[in-house]
Amino acid sequence: MLQFEDSVPSGAGLLKQAPAVQARDDGEAEARRVNIADKRVINGQTDVNQLVAFKYKWAWDKYLSACANHWMPQEIQMSRDIALWKDPNGLTEDERRIVKRNLGFFVTADSLAANNIVLGTYRHITAPECRQYLLRQAFEEAIHTHAYQYIVESLGLNEGEIFNAYHEVSSIRDKDEFLIPFIDVLTDPSFKTGTPENDQKLLKSLIVFACLMEGLFFYVGFTQLLALGRQNKMTGAAEQYQYILRDESMHCNFGIDLINTIKMENPHLWTAEFREELKVLFRKGVDLEYRYAEDTMPRGVLGLNAGMFKEYLRFIANRRAQQIGLDVLFEGATNPFPWMAEMIDLKKERNFFETRVIEYQTGGALSWE
Ligand code: FE
Repeated sequence: MLQFEDSVPSGAGLLKQAPAVQARDDGEAEARRVNIADKRVINGQTDVNQLVAFKYKWAWDKYLSACANHWMPQEIQMSRDIALWKDPNGLTEDERRIVKRNLGFFVTADSLAANNIVLGTYRHITAPECRQYLLRQAFEEAIHTHAYQYIVESLGLNEGEIFNAYHEVSSIRDKDEFLIPFIDVLTDPSFKTGTPENDQKLLKSLIVFACLMEGLFFYVGFTQLLALGRQNKMTGAAEQYQYILRDESMHCNFGIDLINTIKMENPHLWTAEFREELKVLFRKGVDLEYRYAEDTMPRGVLGLNAGMFKEYLRFIANRRAQQIGLDVLFEGATNPFPWMAEMIDLKKERNFFETRVIEYQTGGALSWE
């Protein structure tokens, strides 16, 4: 028998049905082969260690694309950013505030995301194709934390201040305090899926994480940093953010596919009451991110102002709602930043900041000089 069977806390109770490594006879061993029709994203009873045959090909394809997008923070030149940051006339106070607030939010946000995946989500997902993507995603969250750390270190910022910002800056703290209960549900060792109530809790946490955290709470910061880059300022940091944005938009899309597959396999979870709860959460998320926009931009800066973000956040929230099959929340909201769509499609825009040209879509043929 596998030694770890009893130490797996939950979600993987399926190990009890599935994979004794040494079965007693051939018939018993063969019976452990996985039948695609039996695979489920949650509450599955098939062996989670048997990746193929594929049922959730979309998850495997996203895993392959994510690997082909591989990048590392230290490959990006920061010398122009450092010179600009050290030049007393290089940036305005408002521009410096944007950089510091952004780093203050992001340095811990991706760590929360990593905890959510590794300590929470992963063990409740019973499709090995989805687990495979989550493993890649977890590493990308580490790369993102690394990227923010690398920027903080390059610019010589006060590390204590930036890394503790999620306790000290209320617009950041409020976003994280909204998120943390949804992470805690999944990381609680006693939490198990398998009842409609708990399955809804899992689904709600996945929706908050994909649609509101990765899909909304990152967007004020991404837009601001990329707006700096578009004005040829902090181009190294902006390039890092561009790679992060590309990864994050895939995390968000994977999350949405995961959510929609769980919905399809468990239609009883998608009740009218549940949908109403979600709408309240979406509105709350938009509010919190708008307050963050106001705090990071007390005045207009870089051609941006908080009011434009009210519209943008409503536009994004509508899109996330529609992606998971909820009605539009904010009728008529439009996108004031159409250039952000081009930023997400990095391949087309990779020369945008006129920094080093790197084609990351090489799928394992990177040169590591
Ligand atoms: Fe992420």
